[in-house]
Amino acid sequence: MTNPVLPPAMEPADLVWRDGVPESARFGDVYFSRDNGLEETRYVFIGRNRLRERFAELADNRHFVVAETGFGTGLNFLAAWAEWLDCRPKDDSAILHFVSVERFPLTRSDLEKALSFWPELAPQAAELIAHYPPLIQGTHRLVLAGGRIRLTLYFGDVLDAWRDLSFQADAWFLDGFAPSLNPEMWLEDAIGQIRNHSKPGTTLATFTSVGRVRRALIDAGFSMQKVPGFGRKREMLTGQLEVFGADSGASNRLPVAIIGAGIAGTTLARNLAERGVPVVLIDRADQPGAGASGNAQGALYVKLGVEYNAQTELAATALSFSQRYYRRWAGQFWHPTGLLQLASNEQEQHRQQKFLERCQYPPELLEPVDEELGSKRAGLKVTASGLWFPGSGWLEPAKACAALADHPGIQQVFGFNVRTVRSDGKGWTIESQEGQRLSAARLVIAGGHESASLNPANGKLRLKPIRGQVTCLPAEKYNLPEAVICGTKYLNPAMSGIAVTGATFDLRDNNPDVTLESHQENIDQLAELLPAVMGDHGPDASELAGRVSFRCASHDYQPVADELKDENGQEVPGAYLLTGYGSKGLTWAPLMAEYLADRITGQPLSLPEPLIRRVESSRLYPKPD
Ligand code: SAM
Repeated sequence: MTNPVLPPAMEPADLVWRDGVPESARFGDVYFSRDNGLEETRYVFIGRNRLRERFAELADNRHFVVAETGFGTGLNFLAAWAEWLDCRPKDDSAILHFVSVERFPLTRSDLEKALSFWPELAPQAAELIAHYPPLIQGTHRLVLAGGRIRLTLYFGDVLDAWRDLSFQADAWFLDGFAPSLNPEMWLEDAIGQIRNHSKPGTTLATFTSVGRVRRALIDAGFSMQKVPGFGRKREMLTGQLEVFGADSGASNRLPVAIIGAGIAGTTLARNLAERGVPVVLIDRADQPGAGASGNAQGALYVKLGVEYNAQTELAATALSFSQRYYRRWAGQFWHPTGLLQLASNEQEQHRQQKFLERCQYPPELLEPVDEELGSKRAGLKVTASGLWFPGSGWLEPAKACAALADHPGIQQVFGFNVRTVRSDGKGWTIESQEGQRLSAARLVIAGGHESASLNPANGKLRLKPIRGQVTCLPAEKYNLPEAVICGTKYLNPAMSGIAVTGATFDLRDNNPDVTLESHQENIDQLAELLPAVMGDHGPDASELAGRVSFRCASHDYQPVADELKDENGQEVPGAYLLTGYGSKGLTWAPLMAEYLADRITGQPLSLPEPLIRRVESSRLYPKPD
């Protein structure tokens, strides 16, 4: 048996390979048929759910949801993906969602070995392996094939997954080892949850024909049939949930207006546009990324809590999602140099020590480093231990916003200073100070700290601006790192002759101008954090360039991505709020956009219930006494 692991690490699958076929030592069963696993998948799961026909018939701009018990090697997933490519609807924005759960995930190297069996699935396998998440518990959304395939992979127990995930399946693959070897997967509770996550007319298929499973599925409302099994298996089961009314499946072709073209608004605009939803992106500035997302450099960074609770899970999930998300922009605005979080004072040393005692993360996400290794990784002498995040790095945020907003499905409206937003019950009218008007079916307020003043609902949202001044160091005069270093302040590697350091964190200071005091604070703290940068001669603050912006923080410093509510908790129909990213906007933005786009389009949600609660909008109103 392997050693027990600490959260959030997952215990990996313990495989034995017999004649090249992976078997689970824990369950004593094979992952796929010894005869021909891929043929079995095509026969049992794809064929018996009639996926080819159903994919081809899918109406425009719709999505199809397959749910599976037991992700294992991902063979079923890859096979479904390949069928989708072969016979999906012509509409390029149709999406295949695949929701799966795995209690004992394969390590990346076992996954590679298992999937190397199927040369015909090699392109899909390579993409899955490249995006395979770190083995940490929770919900991982993988956006594949340019967004046409979305995998929601829950690492944890099946009962927890079906309790916490929100989706409605069109078809089920029940594939959790033989019921005699793994009864838990087939308990009535688990089968009842399958029913709760099914639409009218949902189909299911499973390799087993065990009477107990068949009866439980009938009790849950499925009409069941025994049909010939694959290869040597005499029988298997298929089923369908009674059709008692058509699924409305509202069209999502109506435009969504997004106010705010910072990193929150532009990641959402791009996400929706790529799902086929037209977007009107509005900002008072003349270009995207003019506010808090407008610095020349910004770090992809979160501080993970000492305890692995919902807050830490949200941060870790957002970090790993953002690292996958930005990969397609590497070399453009994304620079994955790695990031060193220094234990720069005694308090932080103590905190990191406790963190490492209580939590266990895979080294691909983070690993502890001493001074020597930290210096080597960061390419600059450091004088403290720290945590090394190999998949992090820095972005050019203003450039990111512009690149994200550049999509044919996004209408960019700049220089539009919103005065009012009004709903007539059917849609929204957005009026500028100059009296110009725009209409949209739905409205997203992503206006950073100005979001509170745009709120059409009763109540004052607890959002506050926090002034941040960055300082640009001329690269030729200083020793600069090759990776991002964070401590009390952060320092980026050089870009086009400068390196950005900062930022100040000034509550209750609304001065929009660059000040000498703030430069001095940045330089002094950098000199203390990283003496190797400047040697004995610090720069003269008056000769330095910089920039001031105002980030938006919520009262609890957690992001908001939700339907907009009023102070009594009543939803404002067709309105959403997306903000509160504080100084971690680059990390929050991709996952919050993915999640809100899931909600807006009625697709399976990328966040589980306990994390959804953390990003709700109603918490922004003070509780009545
Ligand atoms: N569909 C997989 C494929 O394409 O490779 C094969 C699935 S394998 C037959 C069954 C999987 O269910 C195993 O990976 C196993 O670890 C997982 N499993 C077993 N019990 C589970 C539980 N209680 N919760 C979640 N997953 C479980």
